[in-house]
Formats: sequence, structure tokens, C-alpha cells
Amino acid sequence: MWVHDAQGRAYLDACGGAAVSALGHGHPDVLAAMHAQIDRLAYAHTSFFTSEAAEALADELVRGAPAGLEQVYLVSGGSEAVEAALKMARQYFVEVGQPQRTHFIARRQSYHGNTLGALAVGGNAWRREPFAPLLAPATHVAPCYPYREQRADETPVQYGQRLARELEEAILAQGPERVIAFVAETVGGATAGVLTPVPGYFQAVREVCDRHGVLLILDEVMCGMGRTGTLYACEQEGVVPDLLTIAKGLGGGYQPVGAVLAQRRIVEAMSRGSGFFQHGHTYLGHPVACAAALAVQQVIRRDGLLAKVRDDGAHFGRLLEQALGAHPHVGDIRGRGFFWGVELVAERAGKTPFDPARQLHAQVKKVAMARGLMVYPMGGTVDGRQGDHVLLAPPFIATRADLERIAGLLAEAIAAAT
Ligand code: PLP
Repeated sequence: MWVHDAQGRAYLDACGGAAVSALGHGHPDVLAAMHAQIDRLAYAHTSFFTSEAAEALADELVRGAPAGLEQVYLVSGGSEAVEAALKMARQYFVEVGQPQRTHFIARRQSYHGNTLGALAVGGNAWRREPFAPLLAPATHVAPCYPYREQRADETPVQYGQRLARELEEAILAQGPERVIAFVAETVGGATAGVLTPVPGYFQAVREVCDRHGVLLILDEVMCGMGRTGTLYACEQEGVVPDLLTIAKGLGGGYQPVGAVLAQRRIVEAMSRGSGFFQHGHTYLGHPVACAAALAVQQVIRRDGLLAKVRDDGAHFGRLLEQALGAHPHVGDIRGRGFFWGVELVAERAGKTPFDPARQLHAQVKKVAMARGLMVYPMGGTVDGRQGDHVLLAPPFIATRADLERIAGLLAEAIAAAT
């Protein structure tokens, strides 16, 4: 749970870096698995060989996946996974004779990575801005953000239905025959400080996509692999996407690794058509990365960590509420499992964000670090203005005492920074 710097200072890791370190920073089983793999085979190019580690990891991922997601493409990180998923979706339509589908629909205040494809679907305005002329065409609809956007006269379910209607209108405006896919984080992460979907939202979204032959790509790079208490966050929404991206917690930071899980019909269309997915990187399915990820996932299963994340996650939510709920600059505390966001506001009643020039999120990080706490703060855009959030994503091995300490130190840091 602890990271030590060159000056000998210790930091309690309350965010897994960026929701990465699911098992903390020195898990002996993962280190042993990596050593064993390096001794056996450090690298094999996938055009020559697969490896036992890659095959076993793919089996492990499919075994835990919602029915239908049966094929795995192993890459080296989150942006690579998103990039591959976007290309798979496009190639699928080329193979099935619908090459006119060229347009993606995604959400505002989302983050899907920093490569050009991922930025094209990402809704993080300032990250996109300098590269906008280079980005593939995409339409952005509203994220599921009840704290700010659910109306007083609608229930959470009605709000979710309204968002699904907005998606359908965007598809119709574009012409359904031109749309490749709707891309969304199942639980929003890096841009708006953990956005949990309202009940029924993703089911309504799935129906809209199906009605128009549009694929559903769920990005679980941050929220997947147990972070929300189930291996895949979409399990809690009762939907199965056509393509699902994962990374971060997959390898728990021990190695750079990511993956796309795909429905069989997508892969079969490529096999029947060009015969292969027209993509590839040198380090696809790297054996040491796969061995590390396999070990991480086996530890999570063996040690019952998903149940722990669900139980202790609910407890963590209560601790955060106790420590921060009454603070005048804490607008909202939201999350699931070991994935929580705290939204900071200048004024609670009006939900007014702080002046962006103040860079409050950066200050919270600084004062928290000074107290020996690592949290992941960020500034997103709220109604065109910067909003400040703190993201908490502790390793699954955190004890209840660790969680209590995190909540207490964060409360101190927020009090000091505001
Ligand atoms: N998708 C989501 C939802 C993410 O949160 C991130 C990273 O924060 C990415 C994609 C990009 O992953 P990476 O930084 O590993 O390229």
C-alpha cells in the first residue's frame, strides 16, 4: 500500500497511481510469475508464436467475462486497446459490406486515451483542442452525470431514458447507416471524477444501438478488472457490449498490458473476409506482461478480492461520507467498490465550480502528498468551466484501517487546500 521516495518519505497509495495498482506495489506471487516467465521466454513476436502465458490469460479473461465476449486481443495499454477496438469496429463493417459507416458517437467529459483515435472519441475538451484537425469524425452526447444534469422533475430511470433518447437522436441526425459505434466508459473515470450510470441507462443505450445496427464499445480501461466490485463493470448494468477494452488493473501496474474482448461474430467477420484484423504492434501479447496479468487475476480470484472490494467498498463510501459529507466545499461523493470520486465546489447550493485559475485539484494533490497520501485529482469541464475532482482507487488489498486513514487524510487535505 506504500510508495517510498528517494528522500525516504512514505506515501499511502489511495489511487493505485491512476487506478492501476490493484494489488499494491510488491505482490510476491506476481513477481514470482514474472521471474518464471522471463526465465522461460522473454519475448516472442506474435507472427511467429503465441505463448502459454498469452493463451492462459485470454482463457482467464473469457472465463470471467459476460456471455458472448469470447475473443481476446492483447495489447500494451489502455490507449492501444481503445485504438484497436475502434479499428475492429470499423473493419467489421467493411467486412460485412457496410463501408459507409465512418462515424463514431461518444460522450462529453469522457477519456479514452491520448492516441489520435482515442482522442477522437474522447470528450475531454482541452486534450482534444490542439489536435482537433487531425481527429476522426465523432459526435459527443451527454455523459451520465446525475449530480449536474438530472432534472429535479425526473427520476434516475427517466434521466437515463432521456440520455438514451439523446443518443438515438444523434444517431438519426447522422444517419444510422453511417454510424460505426457508440463508445462509453461503463463508469466514467479520469475526466469527471467517477460517474456511475443510473439504473437502466446502459440497457436503454444497448437497445438504441441494436435498433440501428450500431456497435456498443464499452471502455473499462479504468473501471474494469474488479475495480467496481465485479470483474467487468458492465456486469452490474446487465448489458454485454460488442467490444470491451481493459488495461490498468489488468496487469496491476506490474507490466504494461491491455486487451480488447470481442464478440465472436466480429472476429468471424474478419476471418471470413480479409482473413485477419489489419492491425498489430511489436509487443502484442508480450509473454512477461501476460504472465504478470495472469498472476494478478489469479490472486484476485484465489483471495476473494472481488467480494472484499464490494464489502469494503461500501464501507469506504460511508467513511468518505462521514469524513467529508459536511464539508462546505464537497459537492458530491459518488462511486462503487474501490472507485470513488469527490467533486469539489466553491458553493454547494449552486454547485458552482471553483475558478479554474485556482487549479484547486493540483493543490489538493500537493497538500495530500505533504501528508503522505497519494490521491488522483483532476480538473474536468463543467458547463464549459473547469471543475475539480479527487479520484480514489485504492489497491484491493487495502485494510479497513487503511481506508479510514485515507478518508481522514483526504479530509485534512481538502480542508487545507480550500
Ligand atoms: N480509457 C480510459 C477509460 C482511461 O481511463 C484511460 C487512462 O486513464 C485510457 C483509456 C488510456 O489508457 P492508457 O493511459 O493506458 O493509454
